[in-house]
This record gives sequence, structure tokens and C-alpha cells, in this order.
Amino acid sequence: MSTYVPPTTTAAATTTTTAASTGEGRSVDYTCGDCNAAVSLKRGEPIRCRSCGHRVLYKQRTNRMVQFEAR
Ligand SMILES: [Zn+2]
Repeated sequence: MSTYVPPTTTAAATTTTTAASTGEGRSVDYTCGDCNAAVSLKRGEPIRCRSCGHRVLYKQRTNRMVQFEAR
């Protein structure tokens, strides 16, 4: 009984890992090459700045997805 792991904890961890590896539903941050605006696009969306319509976007390096459990 004491070794039983609640299913919610396992399910949450699995879902997070899967989502991160597949990149599904996750947006990528770009920087417009013309007006330097931050543009976040999801998969399949056309590469285009929403502010000025410029089509050259630079991919940003993001560490936002990295999380640590403070314990
Ligand atoms: Zn722009």
C-alpha cells in the first residue's frame, strides 16, 4: 500500500515529456528581420511577421521550456 504511486503524477510527467519531444501545440519564437518584433508561430503557420509582414524571421533560442522542481 505504501509503495502505490498516484496515477495522476505519472500521467502528468508522461504528458509533459511527450509534448516536449513531439513539439505538438508548442509555438516557436522568432524575431523579425526587419522590425525586430517578436513573433511566435505554431507548427504549420506561415513564416511572416505580424507587425510589418516581413517574411524573414530569425529563430530565437529559448530556455523557457526548462523547468526545475524546487524541492
Ligand atoms: Zn516585422
